[in-house]
Amino acid sequence: MRATKAVIHTENLKHNLDSIRELTGPEVKICLAVKADAYGHGAKGIGRAAQAFGVEYLAVAAISEAEILRKEGITIPIIILSPVLPEEVREATKLGLEAVISTGAEIENFISAAGDVETALHLKIDTGMGRIGCSIAESIHLAETISRSKGIRLAGLCTHFPVSDSSKADDREYTKKQIRLFNSAANDIKAAGINPGLLHAANSGAILNYPEAHLDMVRPGIFAYGFLPGGPGGLLSELEPRLKPKPIMSFESKLIHIKKVSAGTDISYGRIYTTERDSWIGTIPAGYADGYNRLLSNKGWVLINGSSYKVAGTVCMDQLMVDLGPELKAELFDRAVLFGFEDGAATAEELTDITGSIPYELLCAISERVPRVFV
Ligand SMILES: *Cc1c(COP(=O)(O)O)cnc(C)c1O
Repeated sequence: MRATKAVIHTENLKHNLDSIRELTGPEVKICLAVKADAYGHGAKGIGRAAQAFGVEYLAVAAISEAEILRKEGITIPIIILSPVLPEEVREATKLGLEAVISTGAEIENFISAAGDVETALHLKIDTGMGRIGCSIAESIHLAETISRSKGIRLAGLCTHFPVSDSSKADDREYTKKQIRLFNSAANDIKAAGINPGLLHAANSGAILNYPEAHLDMVRPGIFAYGFLPGGPGGLLSELEPRLKPKPIMSFESKLIHIKKVSAGTDISYGRIYTTERDSWIGTIPAGYADGYNRLLSNKGWVLINGSSYKVAGTVCMDQLMVDLGPELKAELFDRAVLFGFEDGAATAEELTDITGSIPYELLCAISERVPRVFV
């Protein structure tokens, strides 16, 4: 196997899912977001583990992602979160997917593709995300259309929160208003004699910060993968401060080349690093094409044998160098942790603080050529 790999610790996924269950109680369903290859962790393995751990639903963004899960023998319901194109509807129903819809035209597409088994639709109501979703005013009419049409059924109502991970007073008010709007739309639909199905709204931020938004089902992503959605401030201090998610992924490689160079030697493209003293330089076969961001040139660090070493010079497409110092303590083929969760290793948060990103993006950026090794 390639030296560079993402080692996936499923026991930590279990820990994080257990924490979510503890927060929501056992009667609330979990819909785990496994879009983007399970946030870079490998959708097949995460999907299988999640099913084994009793997760009730999975969520994807593309039909191709659902297809991979079905081929893997995963049988629990899968929701597709993004609008399904007219030409994709038949495939979605064939795979037995549940679809999030927000317009009459989308409903029509599902009606015309209906087969023997009713397709489950979740009506998305936009309460303040500004992305997909119908208005509150339209929601009753759309819910009625779904519930009285043949071949489809209303399986749920959903909405999404843009600032549920923020502790700012203004953002707190915004999210609370969204919850009020969603509940009132759901109540109007019920009052019209329509069974709305599952009410679901909470992403990781709302799971942690708004217990009143847990409703019938929660949709965790980042927390299940071991991170707080808003960084260290993402967990409002008065709520469940004991909840600490555990990262699942350790991004690792090996030293594949070591050499001694004299003081004043330039390392890598652009000559942005020059050794200040005689030094050992180690090469690691991981680069930006693997998902190790080029903005970490001269800034990232790597854990080798209990010591951490700065990235020396520009991160290349397939390799990067580290300065191992004047006294060599490492050996050829030693394990090198690029980020992870053991003592001394860079964390995804630390690296994204440097690159100006968030753990979500760093995890998804781990590319396809990096094998995911499940332990
Ligand atoms: C990705 C996604 C989630 C999960 O969000 P996290 O912040 O990772 O918990 C939930 N709901 C929808 C609609 C999403 O697209």
